[in-house]
Amino acid sequence: MTLKPGRSRSVLQRHPWIFSGAFEEVGSSLEPGDVVDVVSHEGAWLARGIVNPQSPLTVRLMTWDETETIDEVNLQTRVRKALEARTVLPRLADTEGCRLVYGESDGLPGLIVDRYADYLAVQVLTPAMERWKSALVEALVASECPQGIYERSDVETREREQLPPAEGVLYGQEPPKALEFRDRDLTFLADLRGGQKTGAYLDQRENRWRVSEYCRDRTVLNAFSYTGAFGLCALRAGASHVTNLDTSEPALSLAEEMARRNEANGILPDASTRLTYLAADVFYQLRRFRDERRAFDVIVLDPPKFAFTKTMIHKATRAYKDINLLAIKLLNPGGCLATFSCSGQVSPDLFREVVRGAALDAGRDVLILEKLSQPPDHPVLATFPESEYLKGLICRVV
Ligand code: SAH
Repeated sequence: MTLKPGRSRSVLQRHPWIFSGAFEEVGSSLEPGDVVDVVSHEGAWLARGIVNPQSPLTVRLMTWDETETIDEVNLQTRVRKALEARTVLPRLADTEGCRLVYGESDGLPGLIVDRYADYLAVQVLTPAMERWKSALVEALVASECPQGIYERSDVETREREQLPPAEGVLYGQEPPKALEFRDRDLTFLADLRGGQKTGAYLDQRENRWRVSEYCRDRTVLNAFSYTGAFGLCALRAGASHVTNLDTSEPALSLAEEMARRNEANGILPDASTRLTYLAADVFYQLRRFRDERRAFDVIVLDPPKFAFTKTMIHKATRAYKDINLLAIKLLNPGGCLATFSCSGQVSPDLFREVVRGAALDAGRDVLILEKLSQPPDHPVLATFPESEYLKGLICRVV
């Protein structure tokens, strides 16, 4: 496929995405998932990747080496390399929940593989990965010997690739509804079949423990709690009370079950006496707390993605500002705000601007103590800024 004049730069800089507008033409004979060579306007070979002529994100590059063949065997090698790379990461031995394959960062555009104890959850997001699915599964089985592999390709990004949603067992057994996996000495639960993402938010694993260090003897509001994972780590670190707040009733039930299991196995003997669950909208509930003059020592804000596209950045920024302002006002003097954004479109600088604005409007001094990001099993590919999406700040509110 030939690029338009002046469009080689990003390819030469090893950015893996090429949108349709960069090509002279997108050939009608191409099938979704085909391997294509990308050539400069002047005719020089630049890179090789996989194509989806039906998607505006037309080509995802996989190699800049003309001698490398992209086929089943090559993909299986890439899977093995991704798995091997995880084995040397610090702290991963301490957890049974981690990401084994992270798309472009592992040279496998459109493939996500998460491990939960003996099960793997897989997302297949491009036609090429769909085409090679059984070879990919074969490689995963050979290296990881899982009890089961479950597919959760039911996300909206598949629609953009014109792929129908797909879900179900790809190999072995169906995972139990509440699958146990260990993180340090805590027992977590994930519903791989019905939960959000592939069952849990593994990207916050390290950050939860970081934040927990500020929670000893403190009251904690865990806003956008999902299954209460931040709250559980806070309790483990000695929080006096945790309020888990989320709109999702199934997530809160799983949170309750998770607390029960850690209580039963003696890790958190009095968990239930230190926990409250609130099924409510955070935007509403923070105002309600304000009106009731409630205050907390620590507030975690871990909202879902607010900005999916560039055009949504402005609205997303307003929403971030709103909850951060309310949270800052609800904190006791010297309190701690752990605030996150997983919108890739919102840069770390913009996110800090939001917190700055919220602090100003709240009339309180906010000290940034720690800057947080993604754990090493969700590595950021240096030439692909889009692979960096999670940012967080731990702040002291004076
Ligand atoms: N903190 C969680 C992950 C949060 S994901 C963890 O560590 O696992 C975002 C969560 O926000 C989801 O559980 C979703 O159900 C919830 N949510 C989305 N919009 C919400 C709203 N307006 N009010 C409350 N919860 C909301």
